[in-house]
Amino acid sequence: MRTGKGSGEGSAELLIEGVAKRFGDVVALDHVSLQVAQGELLTILGPSGSGKTTLLKVVAGFETPDAGRVTVGGADITSLPPARRDIGMVFQNYALFPHLSVKANVAFPLEMRNVGKAEIDRRVGEALAMVELAGYEARLPKQLSGGQQQRVALARAIVFNPRLLLLDEPFGALDRKLRETMQLEVRRLQRRLGLTTIFITHDQEEALVLSDRIAVMNKGAIQQIATTTEIYERPANDFVADFVGESNILHGTMSAPGLVALPDGRKLMVDSEAAPGARVGVLMRPERFAPGGINEFTGEIVEAVYLGTSFKLRLACEGGQELLVRQPARGPLPAAGTTITVGIDPEAIHVF
Ligand code: ATP
Repeated sequence: MRTGKGSGEGSAELLIEGVAKRFGDVVALDHVSLQVAQGELLTILGPSGSGKTTLLKVVAGFETPDAGRVTVGGADITSLPPARRDIGMVFQNYALFPHLSVKANVAFPLEMRNVGKAEIDRRVGEALAMVELAGYEARLPKQLSGGQQQRVALARAIVFNPRLLLLDEPFGALDRKLRETMQLEVRRLQRRLGLTTIFITHDQEEALVLSDRIAVMNKGAIQQIATTTEIYERPANDFVADFVGESNILHGTMSAPGLVALPDGRKLMVDSEAAPGARVGVLMRPERFAPGGINEFTGEIVEAVYLGTSFKLRLACEGGQELLVRQPARGPLPAAGTTITVGIDPEAIHVF
């Protein structure tokens, strides 16, 4: 595991230390540690079953960890009941009270905290304005669209000014366009309120758009925690490189400084200080290839897809290597069967 820049060390608002959780034989969390700085939005990104929800439940107090602890602002909350944790939450399946109006739904956390009626009216009004639902107070959840329901859930999660905001795939059920709108809205709101936030998703694009940092999880363990650019440009291992973005991953051995020998005998020039003899992984993002240049690959196009702004080409190269290449969509789509040569600069290759 690697910890990236901007990890907020020293100003950690949320600290998760060595948290482990098993369900029978299943290791859901394998001693997970991470910290989230005050006002930071950290995304936990991972495939289904990687332990994301379990980790969030431990933070929220719905699961008791077998080992480890959770502190917020320096106070240990590991055995505090959920209601006393001062955490706002939004889940994928709206979970609004169906028989209560929008106003009553948003007022609920304040009533639980015995806030006075005038104050409730004021704060509910503010929260609904923030999610752009002023005027919808009297409606029932079933009279709202999916996106509007999620906005009510968001208003309910922030209305009591929580110390932490936890979002578990909140836009999973929404269509793509609405999802993108909601992502930007959440980001704006989270920044404006300076809310320390954990956002869970299995969608890498969503993670890249939203986050200050991303923690990539697999099989109950964190693979890498870093800023969005670092995760994309300098993944720590095969799993991260493959899970985030499209990739070409090769393996080889450093044969000399700045030179990787691939199993098929060819050599790649790279910008790396790995010592000769080291076994390395090589990541080449499809969009970093250009016609000609250093590190040439010649191959036959076996698949060509038009994607609006770019062409996505699958090449079968000499030596059996398959390569995914993206090129700006200019002119006609190259035909399958055509042989082309592309190159990639040493600086565009990430060695891990
Ligand atoms: P998804 O994206 O599908 O929600 P996830 O990354 O959130 O997945 P978790 O829900 O945390 O994953 O589950 C992690 C592992 O723990 C899975 O193998 C799951 O089957 C198991 N698990 C989670 N909760 C329980 C439970 N209450 N009882 C038994 N096994 C569980």
